This record gives sequence, structure tokens and C-alpha cells, in this order.
Amino acid sequence: MAATPPPRDGLLPALTDLDVEGYRALAETPGARPFTPGQVRRWVLDRGASDFAAMTDLSRPLRAELATRWRVRRGALERTYSSRDGTLGLLTRLEDGQLLESVRIPDGERHTLCISSQVGCAVACRFCASGLEGVVRNLSSGEIIEQVLMAREMAPETPLSNYVFMGSGEPTHNMEAVLRAIAVMNSPDGLGIGARRITVSTIGHPSALQRLAQVEIPFHVALSIHMPTDSGREQLMPGLGRSQLQATLAAARERFERTGRRITIEVVVLAGVNDGDEDARAFARLLSGYPALVNIIPWNPVDAIDLRAPDPQRIDALQRILNAAGVNTTVRRPRGQDVGVACGQLRRRADANSESAGN
Ligand code: SAH
Repeated sequence: MAATPPPRDGLLPALTDLDVEGYRALAETPGARPFTPGQVRRWVLDRGASDFAAMTDLSRPLRAELATRWRVRRGALERTYSSRDGTLGLLTRLEDGQLLESVRIPDGERHTLCISSQVGCAVACRFCASGLEGVVRNLSSGEIIEQVLMAREMAPETPLSNYVFMGSGEPTHNMEAVLRAIAVMNSPDGLGIGARRITVSTIGHPSALQRLAQVEIPFHVALSIHMPTDSGREQLMPGLGRSQLQATLAAARERFERTGRRITIEVVVLAGVNDGDEDARAFARLLSGYPALVNIIPWNPVDAIDLRAPDPQRIDALQRILNAAGVNTTVRRPRGQDVGVACGQLRRRADANSESAGN
């Protein structure tokens, strides 16, 4: 499994990696006052300070002392990509040179941030750009939190309303950092984001879902199912290991019963792979009576991948067959395609040094 690297040689730890307890411990810094932790936390999380010089209500000596122990952030915004539909891709350069992508997606009143949990991905779903080169490494909780801070700074006038772990990476392969980041996001002493605004999208290993079920914070879970059979999933999602659809659905249902949070099931639809009537009927048999909303996702084409997006009629047919079986559905519209920020394309474009992305 990919590891999260400690700060590189000579680099100080970053404040964004602190959890709520960690901020409290700043009170022990020489020269700190009882209110120092709250001040620092507000500078880092509420006001988005990226250096100590900005923290003007801290004394100069205290700022100097803190600066000998901490950096504020781990990454720096490298560039942004604006799509005609308003979608904004953010590309961040991390301290080890890796690139990290996040995408801000406006949709009417909603402004959703698509967050990455890893650089690359070990699941390597055959249709997904993120896993083409395997997993590079896990992100730290601070690198996850910084995506929120930077996305907020890009458009301060339109606050984010939803946060989805649907960028690159499998969140449950980086479970502890993701849960730590969610705790900071959700805490009233952190970013104060309501749990219902946060969604973790996962391939849904039963043991990972059981772990998620133990977490007090009732965020949403979305399950990437894609195929109605275990063997079909194992072929399409090679890094999944053994698919256990029934156990996955049962574990997710248990969490639903405990938290009351409805489950979303994601199905990426590919021409000739899972868009036939027979596939639709198999999905209907699998999901009839199950308390979930099925999000039907027409595949976003990715240059390097030799698959085809489905015809719109096939999407309609799938939706009709599922609805007839009493299964609720929505269809996702592709966003950000013109600048290649749809689903995992961003980092690859930057790696390829694309010249046409615009800014
Ligand atoms: N690893 C997690 C979260 C990241 S992907 C997961 O698999 O759920 C978020 C969703 O986007 C997943 O359902 C994934 O299958 C889907 N996805 C990935 N690449 C896509 C593409 N090119 N077109 C449409 N959906 C894609």
C-alpha cells in the first residue's frame, strides 16, 4: 500500500497537517498565550494565510518562534484551468514535485469541490485516467485540507457547498489521512463543514465500509459498482482484488441504517462493456429493493484509453430499466471536458505539458 511520506529532509512539518488536538498543542510553543492556538487555527483554516508574516495579531517573536518549528502549507498552486461551463481545475505542486488535482464544479446554487486522496491510484479501473501509472503516493491530511483552502481562495465570492472525494485516488486506500482530513473539515473548531456536504466515493471493500461505519461523522458514501457481477468488476477494476458485491452492499446498507445517510451507487457506463439491456436487467436484479440512488455516469473519454462512451439512447434504456424495477436513478452530465479537467485528466495533461489548456 502507498505510504504518506514524512516531510522531506530539511522541511518543517506543516500546520495544515494538524488535527484539532494538534492545534491545541500549539499552546506549548515558547511565548504562546492561551488564545494562540485559536488565532493560528483561524489564520490557517478560516483566513487561508500561507505564511506567518500574515498572522498580524501574533507578536513578532511568537511568529518567529513558530516559523522555526512549522511551515504553514505543503503545496503551492501551480496553475488553474477554466472550462467554458464554469468548471475550474486546480493543479497544485507538492513539495516532492508531484502534481495534485482538484476540480471546482459550479451547478446552479451548488459549488462542488472534487478532492483527490492520492497521487495516482492502485485500483486502475480500465476507464479511468488516474490509475494509468499506478499509485505514486498517499496524500497527507494537510494536502487534502489544502485543496479545500485553495479552492476557496480561487472564488471567495462563491462559497463551496459540497465536497466529494472523487478526484484521483481510492480514499479507503488512504483511510487514516482521509478520515483525519474529514474530521478537520467537519469540526466546528476546524472548517465547520456539515457532514451531509461531504461524500466519500469508494470501490467499497466490505472491511473499509465497516471501518467507515464506525466513524461518528455521518458523511455520505458513494459506491463505485460499475458492473453487476463480481467477475465483471474484477475485470474492469483490476486493482480491486476479489470483488464481493453482496458483502459490499450489505456493509453499505448497515451504515445507511446507522446514519440515515442514503447510499449512492455509481455506474460508469461504457459502450459494449455494460450498456446492453442484459446488463441493465442484471443491475436491476442486483439493486431492486436496495436503499440507494444510482448515479449513471456516461464515460468521459480519456485520450490514452481505447474505450467508447455510450450512445445517449443506451443511457436512457439503462435508466428506464432500473426505474421500472423501482430503482432511483440520476444521470451525471460531464463537466469540464473542453479543458480536460473531467475525471483524472488534469494531472496527465499537465504532465504531458499541454500547450492548449488556456488559463
Ligand atoms: N476511487 C474512488 C473515487 C475516485 S473516482 C472510486 O472509485 O469511487 C470517482 C468516480 O468517478 C468513480 O465512480 C469513478 O469510477 C468515476 N470515473 C473515473 N474516471 C471516469 C471517467 N473517465 N468518466 C466517468 N467517470 C469516471
